[in-house]
Amino acid sequence: METPVDPLGLSASGWEAVLESWGEPRYRGRQIFESLHRHRRRDYALALELPAALRARLAAEMPIRLPEIVRREESRDGSVKYGMRLSDGALIEAVFMPGFRSFSEANEFEDARAPDAGPLPIETGESAVRRPARGSTDPQERFTICVSSQTGCAVDCAFCVTGRLGGGRNLLAGEIIGEIDAVLSDVGRSPEGLRVVFMGMGEPFLNPDAVMAALDVLQEVLPARRVTVSTSGITPAFERFAARERRPNLAVSLNAADSEIRASIMPIERSYPLAGVLAAMRAWPLESHRRITVEYVLIAGVNDAPADADRLVRLLAGMRVKVNAIPLNEDPTYLPGWKRPSEPAIDRFAERLTRDGVPVTVRRSRGPDTSAACGQLKGRTEDPRRRSR
Ligand code: SAH
Ligand code: SF4
Repeated sequence: METPVDPLGLSASGWEAVLESWGEPRYRGRQIFESLHRHRRRDYALALELPAALRARLAAEMPIRLPEIVRREESRDGSVKYGMRLSDGALIEAVFMPGFRSFSEANEFEDARAPDAGPLPIETGESAVRRPARGSTDPQERFTICVSSQTGCAVDCAFCVTGRLGGGRNLLAGEIIGEIDAVLSDVGRSPEGLRVVFMGMGEPFLNPDAVMAALDVLQEVLPARRVTVSTSGITPAFERFAARERRPNLAVSLNAADSEIRASIMPIERSYPLAGVLAAMRAWPLESHRRITVEYVLIAGVNDAPADADRLVRLLAGMRVKVNAIPLNEDPTYLPGWKRPSEPAIDRFAERLTRDGVPVTVRRSRGPDTSAACGQLKGRTEDPRRRSR
Protein backbone atom coordinates (compact mmCIF):
# COMPACT_ATOMS: atom_id res chain seq x y z
CA MET A 1 0.00 0.00 0.00
CA GLU A 2 1.25 3.45 -0.80
CA THR A 3 2.26 5.51 2.22
CA PRO A 4 -0.22 8.37 2.56
CA VAL A 5 1.16 11.86 2.27
CA ASP A 6 1.03 13.31 5.77
CA PRO A 7 2.78 16.68 5.86
CA LEU A 8 1.34 17.87 9.19
CA GLY A 9 2.45 14.63 10.83
CA LEU A 10 6.10 14.94 9.84
CA SER A 11 8.61 15.83 12.54
CA ALA A 12 11.43 18.26 11.83
CA SER A 13 13.79 15.36 11.17
CA GLY A 14 11.15 13.71 8.96
CA TRP A 15 11.02 16.88 6.88
CA GLU A 16 14.80 17.00 6.70
CA ALA A 17 14.82 13.46 5.31
CA VAL A 18 12.18 14.32 2.70
CA LEU A 19 14.09 17.40 1.59
CA GLU A 20 17.31 15.47 1.39
CA SER A 21 15.62 12.87 -0.81
CA TRP A 22 14.50 15.74 -3.03
CA GLY A 23 18.10 16.89 -3.40
CA GLU A 24 17.50 20.02 -1.28
CA PRO A 25 19.59 21.14 1.69
CA ARG A 26 18.45 19.51 4.93
CA TYR A 27 17.92 22.84 6.70
CA ARG A 28 15.02 23.52 4.37
CA GLY A 29 13.21 20.70 6.16
CA ARG A 30 13.52 22.49 9.49
CA GLN A 31 12.33 25.70 7.83
CA ILE A 32 9.21 23.97 6.57
CA PHE A 33 8.54 22.43 9.98
CA GLU A 34 8.92 25.84 11.64
CA SER A 35 6.64 27.43 9.11
CA LEU A 36 3.93 24.82 9.75
CA HIS A 37 4.16 24.43 13.50
CA ARG A 38 5.79 27.51 14.97
CA HIS A 39 4.35 30.11 12.63
CA ARG A 40 1.26 27.93 12.14
CA ARG A 41 1.05 28.74 8.46
CA ARG A 42 -1.16 26.39 6.59
CA ASP A 43 -0.16 27.43 3.09
CA TYR A 44 3.31 26.85 1.71
CA ALA A 45 2.89 30.00 -0.35
CA LEU A 46 3.30 31.98 2.88
CA ALA A 47 6.73 30.50 3.57
CA LEU A 48 8.61 33.23 1.71
CA GLU A 49 11.89 32.02 3.17
CA LEU A 50 11.64 29.08 0.72
CA PRO A 51 12.46 29.31 -3.00
CA ALA A 52 9.35 29.64 -5.18
CA ALA A 53 10.03 26.35 -6.97
CA LEU A 54 10.19 24.48 -3.68
CA ARG A 55 6.93 26.08 -2.51
CA ALA A 56 5.29 24.92 -5.71
CA ARG A 57 6.62 21.38 -5.33
CA LEU A 58 5.42 21.21 -1.75
CA ALA A 59 1.95 22.36 -2.75
CA ALA A 60 1.81 19.74 -5.48
CA GLU A 61 3.33 16.78 -3.65
CA MET A 62 2.61 17.44 0.02
CA PRO A 63 -0.85 19.03 0.05
CA ILE A 64 -2.11 20.02 3.48
CA ARG A 65 -5.57 18.76 4.29
CA LEU A 66 -7.07 20.00 7.53
CA PRO A 67 -10.07 18.31 9.10
CA GLU A 68 -13.20 20.27 8.31
CA ILE A 69 -15.35 21.34 11.25
CA VAL A 70 -18.86 20.17 10.42
CA ARG A 71 -20.49 20.47 13.83
CA ARG A 72 -19.89 22.66 16.84
CA GLU A 73 -21.75 22.37 20.11
CA GLU A 74 -20.99 24.68 22.97
CA SER A 75 -21.75 23.94 26.61
CA ARG A 76 -22.58 26.52 29.19
CA ASP A 77 -19.24 25.87 30.87
CA GLY A 78 -17.44 26.94 27.71
CA SER A 79 -16.49 23.44 26.50
CA VAL A 80 -17.01 22.99 22.82
CA LYS A 81 -17.47 19.65 21.10
CA TYR A 82 -16.45 19.60 17.47
CA GLY A 83 -17.52 17.16 14.83
CA MET A 84 -14.86 17.01 12.13
CA ARG A 85 -14.70 15.41 8.74
CA LEU A 86 -11.40 13.96 7.58
CA SER A 87 -10.31 14.01 3.96
CA ASP A 88 -11.79 10.55 3.27
CA GLY A 89 -15.12 11.58 4.79
CA ALA A 90 -14.59 9.81 8.14
CA LEU A 91 -16.13 11.66 11.07
CA ILE A 92 -14.39 12.21 14.38
CA GLU A 93 -14.84 14.41 17.41
CA ALA A 94 -12.56 16.63 19.45
CA VAL A 95 -13.33 18.71 22.52
CA PHE A 96 -12.09 22.11 23.66
CA MET A 97 -12.12 22.66 27.43
CA PRO A 98 -11.27 26.18 28.54
CA GLY A 99 -9.50 27.49 31.54
CA PHE A 100 -8.60 24.35 33.42
CA ARG A 101 -5.25 23.88 35.04
CA SER A 102 -5.11 20.31 33.87
CA PHE A 103 -7.61 17.65 32.98
CA SER A 104 -7.24 15.92 36.31
CA GLU A 105 -7.52 19.09 38.33
CA ALA A 106 -10.49 20.12 36.29
CA ASN A 107 -12.89 17.91 38.09
CA GLU A 108 -12.07 18.15 41.74
CA PHE A 109 -13.98 16.03 44.15
CA GLU A 110 -15.82 19.06 45.51
CA ASP A 111 -17.20 19.78 42.07
CA ALA A 112 -18.91 16.45 41.85
CA ARG A 113 -20.69 17.10 45.10
CA ALA A 114 -21.85 20.56 44.14
CA PRO A 115 -25.63 20.79 43.88
CA ASP A 116 -26.81 19.88 40.43
CA ALA A 117 -27.56 23.03 38.52
CA GLY A 118 -30.03 21.18 36.37
CA PRO A 119 -29.84 20.49 32.67
CA LEU A 120 -27.65 22.84 30.72
CA PRO A 121 -28.88 24.49 27.56
CA ILE A 122 -27.90 22.88 24.31
CA GLU A 123 -27.23 24.93 21.27
CA THR A 124 -28.72 23.43 18.23
CA GLY A 125 -29.50 24.44 14.70
CA GLU A 126 -28.18 27.77 13.66
CA SER A 127 -26.73 28.69 17.01
CA ALA A 128 -24.62 25.54 16.95
CA VAL A 129 -22.52 26.90 14.16
CA ARG A 130 -22.04 30.23 15.86
CA ARG A 131 -18.40 30.74 16.79
CA PRO A 132 -17.77 29.88 20.43
CA ALA A 133 -16.80 32.55 22.90
CA ARG A 134 -13.20 33.37 22.22
CA GLY A 135 -10.76 31.95 24.72
CA SER A 136 -9.39 34.16 27.41
CA THR A 137 -7.33 37.05 26.19
CA ASP A 138 -4.74 36.00 28.77
CA PRO A 139 -2.27 33.96 26.74
CA GLN A 140 -1.11 32.23 29.94
CA GLU A 141 -4.49 30.77 30.70
CA ARG A 142 -4.50 27.06 30.31
CA PHE A 143 -6.91 25.06 28.28
CA THR A 144 -7.21 21.49 27.11
CA ILE A 145 -7.98 19.87 23.80
CA CYS A 146 -9.15 16.27 23.85
CA VAL A 147 -8.31 14.48 20.61
CA SER A 148 -9.38 11.30 18.86
CA SER A 149 -6.77 8.84 17.64
CA GLN A 150 -9.08 6.51 15.68
CA THR A 151 -12.42 6.95 13.93
CA GLY A 152 -14.05 4.38 16.24
CA CYS A 153 -12.85 1.84 18.77
CA ALA A 154 -12.61 -1.91 18.48
CA VAL A 155 -11.81 -2.37 22.18
CA ASP A 156 -15.55 -2.46 22.72
CA CYS A 157 -15.90 -1.48 26.36
CA ALA A 158 -19.48 -2.05 27.39
CA PHE A 159 -19.92 1.39 28.96
CA CYS A 160 -18.47 3.47 26.10
CA VAL A 161 -20.48 4.95 23.27
CA THR A 162 -17.47 5.03 20.97
CA GLY A 163 -16.89 1.36 21.69
CA ARG A 164 -20.52 0.44 21.15
CA LEU A 165 -20.36 1.93 17.70
CA GLY A 166 -17.51 -0.33 16.68
CA GLY A 167 -14.02 -0.06 15.30
CA GLY A 168 -12.70 2.46 12.83
CA ARG A 169 -9.49 3.32 11.11
CA ASN A 170 -6.34 4.76 12.59
CA LEU A 171 -5.85 8.49 12.23
CA LEU A 172 -2.65 9.70 10.63
CA ALA A 173 -0.36 11.80 12.80
CA GLY A 174 -1.18 14.82 10.66
CA GLU A 175 -4.89 14.25 11.19
CA ILE A 176 -4.34 14.31 14.96
CA ILE A 177 -2.29 17.51 14.66
CA GLY A 178 -5.00 18.78 12.31
CA GLU A 179 -7.66 18.27 14.99
CA ILE A 180 -5.68 20.41 17.41
CA ASP A 181 -5.05 22.96 14.73
CA ALA A 182 -8.69 23.21 13.74
CA VAL A 183 -9.74 23.77 17.35
CA LEU A 184 -7.01 26.35 18.00
CA SER A 185 -8.03 28.28 14.91
CA ASP A 186 -11.69 28.11 15.81
CA VAL A 187 -11.19 29.45 19.34
CA GLY A 188 -8.53 31.91 18.24
CA ARG A 189 -5.79 30.57 20.50
CA SER A 190 -2.13 29.78 20.01
CA PRO A 191 -0.58 26.68 21.64
CA GLU A 192 0.33 28.92 24.61
CA GLY A 193 -1.37 27.35 27.65
CA LEU A 194 -2.43 24.26 25.69
CA ARG A 195 -2.81 20.79 27.22
CA VAL A 196 -3.57 17.85 24.97
CA VAL A 197 -5.28 14.68 26.14
CA PHE A 198 -5.71 11.58 23.99
CA MET A 199 -9.07 10.72 25.50
CA GLY A 200 -11.33 11.15 22.52
CA MET A 201 -12.42 8.45 20.14
CA GLY A 202 -10.21 5.41 19.84
CA GLU A 203 -7.44 3.58 21.62
CA PRO A 204 -4.14 5.46 21.19
CA PHE A 205 -2.04 2.39 22.04
CA LEU A 206 -3.61 0.56 19.09
CA ASN A 207 -2.38 3.34 16.83
CA PRO A 208 1.11 3.77 18.26
CA ASP A 209 2.86 4.84 15.04
CA ALA A 210 0.67 7.84 14.40
CA VAL A 211 0.31 8.79 18.06
CA MET A 212 4.08 8.66 18.53
CA ALA A 213 4.61 10.72 15.39
CA ALA A 214 2.05 13.26 16.62
CA LEU A 215 3.89 13.38 19.97
CA ASP A 216 7.13 14.05 18.09
CA VAL A 217 5.54 17.07 16.43
CA LEU A 218 3.79 18.26 19.58
CA GLN A 219 6.88 18.08 21.76
CA GLU A 220 8.53 20.72 19.61
CA VAL A 221 5.88 23.21 20.58
CA LEU A 222 4.72 21.87 23.97
CA PRO A 223 6.51 20.39 26.98
CA ALA A 224 5.85 16.62 27.08
CA ARG A 225 4.22 16.93 30.50
CA ARG A 226 1.37 18.88 28.94
CA VAL A 227 0.29 15.89 26.91
CA THR A 228 -1.55 12.88 28.35
CA VAL A 229 -2.14 9.62 26.55
CA SER A 230 -4.92 7.43 27.90
CA THR A 231 -5.00 3.70 27.24
CA SER A 232 -7.30 0.86 28.11
CA GLY A 233 -4.16 -1.16 28.84
CA ILE A 234 -2.75 -2.51 25.59
CA THR A 235 0.20 -4.05 27.39
CA PRO A 236 2.65 -4.56 24.50
CA ALA A 237 2.59 -0.87 23.55
CA PHE A 238 3.69 0.45 26.95
CA GLU A 239 7.32 -0.31 26.30
CA ARG A 240 7.44 1.67 23.09
CA PHE A 241 5.97 4.76 24.67
CA ALA A 242 8.12 4.27 27.77
CA ALA A 243 11.26 4.27 25.62
CA ARG A 244 10.62 7.82 24.45
CA GLU A 245 13.11 10.38 25.56
CA ARG A 246 10.28 12.76 26.34
CA ARG A 247 7.29 10.88 27.62
CA PRO A 248 3.74 12.11 27.81
CA ASN A 249 1.74 11.63 30.99
CA LEU A 250 0.25 8.19 31.15
CA ALA A 251 -3.37 7.49 32.02
CA VAL A 252 -4.61 3.92 32.27
CA SER A 253 -8.29 3.04 32.25
CA LEU A 254 -8.47 0.26 34.80
CA ASN A 255 -12.18 0.70 35.52
CA ALA A 256 -12.21 -2.30 37.83
CA ALA A 257 -10.04 -3.66 40.60
CA ASP A 258 -10.45 -7.30 39.81
CA SER A 259 -10.09 -9.29 36.66
CA GLU A 260 -13.57 -10.75 36.63
CA ILE A 261 -15.41 -7.45 36.90
CA ARG A 262 -13.01 -5.91 34.41
CA ALA A 263 -13.65 -8.68 31.91
CA SER A 264 -17.40 -8.13 32.25
CA ILE A 265 -17.10 -4.50 31.12
CA MET A 266 -13.86 -4.55 29.10
CA PRO A 267 -13.45 -7.53 26.78
CA ILE A 268 -9.81 -6.48 26.28
CA GLU A 269 -9.18 -7.94 29.76
CA ARG A 270 -9.15 -11.38 28.14
CA SER A 271 -6.26 -10.42 25.87
CA TYR A 272 -4.42 -8.14 28.29
CA PRO A 273 -5.30 -9.07 31.86
CA LEU A 274 -5.14 -6.69 34.78
CA ALA A 275 -2.02 -8.26 36.31
CA GLY A 276 -0.05 -7.56 33.12
CA VAL A 277 -1.40 -4.02 32.88
CA LEU A 278 -0.30 -3.34 36.46
CA ALA A 279 3.13 -4.81 35.72
CA ALA A 280 3.45 -2.52 32.69
CA MET A 281 2.48 0.44 34.87
CA ARG A 282 5.09 -0.51 37.46
CA ALA A 283 7.71 -0.72 34.71
CA TRP A 284 6.78 2.73 33.35
CA PRO A 285 9.71 5.11 33.96
CA LEU A 286 7.98 7.82 35.90
CA GLU A 287 9.60 11.24 36.13
CA SER A 288 9.77 12.81 39.58
CA HIS A 289 6.70 14.84 40.48
CA ARG A 290 4.59 12.81 38.09
CA ARG A 291 1.98 10.18 38.78
CA ILE A 292 0.26 7.72 36.52
CA THR A 293 -3.43 8.52 36.29
CA VAL A 294 -5.73 5.58 36.90
CA GLU A 295 -9.07 6.14 35.27
CA TYR A 296 -11.98 4.42 36.88
CA VAL A 297 -15.44 4.82 35.40
CA LEU A 298 -17.90 4.41 38.26
CA ILE A 299 -20.88 2.31 37.23
CA ALA A 300 -23.76 1.71 39.63
CA GLY A 301 -23.88 -1.83 40.94
CA VAL A 302 -20.88 -2.91 38.87
CA ASN A 303 -17.70 -1.48 40.39
CA ASP A 304 -18.79 1.21 42.87
CA ALA A 305 -19.04 -0.72 46.15
CA PRO A 306 -16.81 0.10 49.13
CA ALA A 307 -15.26 -3.34 48.67
CA ASP A 308 -14.25 -2.32 45.11
CA ALA A 309 -12.56 0.79 46.51
CA ASP A 310 -10.70 -1.32 49.06
CA ARG A 311 -9.56 -3.72 46.36
CA LEU A 312 -8.38 -0.82 44.25
CA VAL A 313 -6.36 0.55 47.18
CA ARG A 314 -4.67 -2.83 47.62
CA LEU A 315 -4.00 -3.13 43.90
CA LEU A 316 -2.33 0.26 43.70
CA ALA A 317 -0.28 -0.04 46.89
CA GLY A 318 3.23 1.26 46.43
CA MET A 319 2.55 2.83 43.03
CA ARG A 320 2.81 6.54 42.32
CA VAL A 321 -0.71 7.05 40.97
CA LYS A 322 -3.70 9.30 41.23
CA VAL A 323 -7.16 7.96 40.61
CA ASN A 324 -9.52 9.82 38.37
CA ALA A 325 -12.96 8.48 39.22
CA ILE A 326 -15.39 9.21 36.41
CA PRO A 327 -19.05 8.76 37.25
CA LEU A 328 -20.55 7.04 34.21
CA ASN A 329 -21.97 9.34 31.60
CA GLU A 330 -25.26 7.71 30.84
CA ASP A 331 -26.67 7.31 27.38
CA PRO A 332 -30.04 5.61 27.15
CA THR A 333 -29.67 5.05 23.41
CA TYR A 334 -26.22 3.54 23.26
CA LEU A 335 -25.73 2.36 26.83
CA PRO A 336 -29.17 1.18 27.93
CA GLY A 337 -29.25 -0.14 31.48
CA TRP A 338 -25.91 1.32 32.57
CA LYS A 339 -26.31 3.81 35.40
CA ARG A 340 -24.20 6.42 37.11
CA PRO A 341 -23.94 5.75 40.86
CA SER A 342 -25.80 7.99 43.28
CA GLU A 343 -23.88 10.99 44.63
CA PRO A 344 -23.50 9.35 48.10
CA ALA A 345 -22.09 6.20 46.44
CA ILE A 346 -19.61 8.32 44.46
CA ASP A 347 -18.60 10.16 47.64
CA ARG A 348 -18.24 6.93 49.56
CA PHE A 349 -16.00 5.43 46.91
CA ALA A 350 -13.75 8.48 46.69
CA GLU A 351 -13.59 8.94 50.46
CA ARG A 352 -12.47 5.36 50.88
CA LEU A 353 -9.51 5.96 48.56
CA THR A 354 -8.66 9.26 50.23
CA ARG A 355 -8.82 7.65 53.66
CA ASP A 356 -6.23 5.12 52.56
CA GLY A 357 -3.93 7.75 51.11
CA VAL A 358 -4.68 7.28 47.41
CA PRO A 359 -5.11 10.68 45.74
CA VAL A 360 -8.42 10.85 43.93
CA THR A 361 -10.30 13.36 41.86
CA VAL A 362 -13.85 12.88 40.71
CA ARG A 363 -14.26 14.10 37.20
CA ARG A 364 -17.14 16.35 36.55
CA SER A 365 -17.33 15.70 32.86
CA ARG A 366 -16.95 18.67 30.63
CA GLY A 367 -19.88 19.38 28.47
CA PRO A 368 -22.22 16.55 29.41
CA ASP A 369 -25.03 18.59 27.95
CA THR A 370 -23.51 18.18 24.53
CA SER A 371 -22.26 14.63 24.98
CA ALA A 372 -18.72 15.97 24.90
CA ALA A 373 -18.05 13.87 27.94
CA CYS A 374 -15.63 10.97 27.98
CA GLY A 375 -16.85 7.91 26.26
CA GLN A 376 -19.63 9.83 24.60
CA LEU A 377 -17.86 10.72 21.40
CA LYS A 378 -19.30 9.09 18.38
CA GLY A 379 -18.30 10.96 15.29
CA ARG A 380 -21.08 9.30 13.40
CA THR A 381 -24.49 10.82 13.39
CA GLU A 382 -26.16 7.56 12.63
CA ASP A 383 -26.20 4.38 14.66
CA PRO A 384 -24.75 1.67 12.41
CA ARG A 385 -26.63 -0.99 14.39
CA ARG A 386 -29.88 0.46 13.09
CA ARG A 387 -28.70 0.07 9.56
CA SER A 388 -27.74 -3.54 10.06
CA ARG A 389 -31.08 -4.44 11.60
N1 SAH B 1 -9.37 4.39 24.67
C1 SAH B 1 -8.71 5.12 25.67
C2 SAH B 1 -8.93 6.63 25.57
C3 SAH B 1 -10.31 7.08 25.19
S1 SAH B 1 -11.58 6.70 26.35
C4 SAH B 1 -9.08 4.62 27.04
O1 SAH B 1 -10.00 3.82 27.16
O2 SAH B 1 -8.40 5.00 27.99
C5 SAH B 1 -11.25 7.96 27.58
C6 SAH B 1 -11.85 7.66 28.95
O3 SAH B 1 -13.27 7.71 28.90
C7 SAH B 1 -11.50 6.27 29.48
O4 SAH B 1 -10.94 6.40 30.77
C8 SAH B 1 -12.84 5.57 29.56
O5 SAH B 1 -12.85 4.63 30.60
C9 SAH B 1 -13.78 6.73 29.77
N2 SAH B 1 -15.17 6.45 29.41
C10 SAH B 1 -15.60 5.72 28.38
N3 SAH B 1 -16.96 5.67 28.36
C11 SAH B 1 -17.38 6.39 29.42
C12 SAH B 1 -18.67 6.73 29.92
N4 SAH B 1 -19.79 6.33 29.35
N5 SAH B 1 -18.72 7.50 31.02
C13 SAH B 1 -17.59 7.94 31.61
N6 SAH B 1 -16.36 7.68 31.17
C14 SAH B 1 -16.25 6.90 30.09
FE1 SF4 C 1 -12.22 2.28 23.23
FE2 SF4 C 1 -11.50 3.71 25.38
FE3 SF4 C 1 -14.07 3.49 24.65
FE4 SF4 C 1 -12.85 1.38 25.65
S1 SF4 C 1 -13.25 3.31 26.73
S2 SF4 C 1 -14.17 1.38 23.83
S3 SF4 C 1 -10.82 1.64 24.83
S4 SF4 C 1 -12.47 4.49 23.51
